[in-house]
Amino acid sequence: MGLPPAAASALACRVRFAPSPTGFLHLGGLRTALYNYIFAKKHGGRFILRLEDTDQSRLVPGAAEGIEDMLQWAGIPPDESPRCGGPAAPYLQSQRLPLYREAVEQLLEKGAAYRCFCTPQRLELLKKAALRNQETPRYDNRCRHLSPKQVAEKVTQGADCVVRFRLEEGSEPFHDLVYGWSKHEVARVEGDPVILKSDGFPTYHLANVVDDHLMGISHVLRGAEWLISTSKHLLLYRAFGWDPPRFAHLPLLLNADGSKLSKRQGHVFVEHLAQDGYLPAALLDIITNCGSGFAENRMGRTLEELVAEFDVGRIEKYSALLDLEKLGEFNRIHLAQQIRDERRRPALVAEVQASVERAFGEQLVDRGVLEKAYVEQVLLLRRGHISRLRDLVSPQHAFLWIRPMVSHEELQAISPEAEEIGRLVLELLDQPVATLTIEELGRELRQLPERVQATKYSAMMKLLRVALSGQQQGPSIAEMMVSLGHRETRTRIRRALCS
Ligand code: GLU
Repeated sequence: MGLPPAAASALACRVRFAPSPTGFLHLGGLRTALYNYIFAKKHGGRFILRLEDTDQSRLVPGAAEGIEDMLQWAGIPPDESPRCGGPAAPYLQSQRLPLYREAVEQLLEKGAAYRCFCTPQRLELLKKAALRNQETPRYDNRCRHLSPKQVAEKVTQGADCVVRFRLEEGSEPFHDLVYGWSKHEVARVEGDPVILKSDGFPTYHLANVVDDHLMGISHVLRGAEWLISTSKHLLLYRAFGWDPPRFAHLPLLLNADGSKLSKRQGHVFVEHLAQDGYLPAALLDIITNCGSGFAENRMGRTLEELVAEFDVGRIEKYSALLDLEKLGEFNRIHLAQQIRDERRRPALVAEVQASVERAFGEQLVDRGVLEKAYVEQVLLLRRGHISRLRDLVSPQHAFLWIRPMVSHEELQAISPEAEEIGRLVLELLDQPVATLTIEELGRELRQLPERVQATKYSAMMKLLRVALSGQQQGPSIAEMMVSLGHRETRTRIRRALCS
């Protein structure tokens, strides 16, 4: 089940994203996945998704599928994964138990690991005593000293046991691609860690090291919270006699105020943000923009540009501060880019058509508004003004799809010359204005106040806005007219103003 040697050498750069399916993918996880993806693409390597589900008590149903779905949605699909398989399958740790047991056997044989029969009660007592003395609780390594005979006896008696790794002193310093030289003398501060639990499941440290080795992982890019564990992992590599991968620990992603991104904040989940109508490109941009790894930061970077401009050596040690308040702005920029892109536009048109249908359905008097050409024009005109596609079905934009209900009294209250103004606009529209640009139409409209007595330009625009859209705010009148088209504009003006 390890990577065949031929595959290993052909795929020199292999990185992995190794989340535990204990919840849905959040922005911090997406960022780790993204840096791995970018690194793989940059170096012609493979991006692997491995699900670390060895702590069965913390599994959340649906989380594993959700994580893979979200990577797909974000446009950073893994090359190898539980769902798509690959040369190092399986990619779900719970399906690799025999491999861990075999690895543990190796360590037991070498004397690098030992069986521990301490009961949970004893461990609890140790912990309490340490806390009473204001010390960090640690296992006292008692079972290290059991003789082979004692171990054999306990095994024959069927006593419950775990396997612990014998932490040796003499951790070697290692060079992290982000944090530089680092060393943590684990044996001095920790008791021997459990590597195989009594239920036959490995713990994180063992499974992680065994899999990184068997899957031929060349570089481990993971959150900085694991930096401290790396010395322990290196001791495991040494005990196995394996070459370790290179490590690059990624600084944490924090809220703009420096607080921890809490998974209790709904808006940090990728799935929620996707449902809220944010584009994958905007999320990828905002989570890299606040960090480092690039010569400069700018808004609007696409995934291709991220890959082209990324340099792991430029990742700084400071935490990345994520300002989600700016997400709307990031989305606006990416949406405008995608509307401009002829290859992407059809999908956006289809999405708008579906949401208009959903939002207005039977209210649609004229189903012509669902036609591709009309929707495309709306998108091109509103590009840069809306931050999410769904803004197009907001009350402010409803006029694009349905006729507004406008009360005569409301219009009269804006200007007693409403009817006169209506006539002037109809006259204006009698000219071949269909060919006018928004700017030309705007100029014509600005000249209208000269032809009425008491209505100022601003009131006139307010009047026309209400007549055309039933709203107090929205796009410019000229843009509204161009969007609605000559006929529909005339119909609305006539109905609202010229009774
Ligand atoms: N399962 C660990 C996590 O969820 C993986 C850490 C690593 O990448 O080694 O963060």
